[in-house]
Amino acid sequence: MTEKPIETLSGSILAGLSCACPRCGQGKLFQGFLTLRPRCEVCGLDYGFADAGDGPAVFIIFFAGFIVVGAALVTEMVYRPPYWVHAALWLPLILVLTLGPLRPMKGLMIALQYHHKAAEGRFGGGGGGGGGSGGGEP
Ligand SMILES: [Zn+2]
Repeated sequence: MTEKPIETLSGSILAGLSCACPRCGQGKLFQGFLTLRPRCEVCGLDYGFADAGDGPAVFIIFFAGFIVVGAALVTEMVYRPPYWVHAALWLPLILVLTLGPLRPMKGLMIALQYHHKAAEGRFGGGGGGGGGSGGGEP
């Protein structure tokens, strides 16, 4: 299995949208619905840098709200359905429009964050030999 790191922006975007590790594009990013794994299972990238915060949610709420309100207004003006029809139509649509894109959007933001951070922090030497091994000799 060839593990070559993603270096192009388009590669990072694709990995993010498919909820994959932003460095190798193979490991999974999430372990729950929106819970990040501590690190990549394939390349060992620590996901501790990833802090998308509420960015994806805010973006999606505006986006979904715009679509649902627009569609509800058009439906009301054209068909004038009873209120329960509105509820039956728009509540599932809101769930689909908000929960559906949440993971890929969060993955995308993390991928972009990683891409830019990796690009600007490349001069940092990779040393960091970790700590004393207290292995007792027999
Ligand atoms: Zn990885």
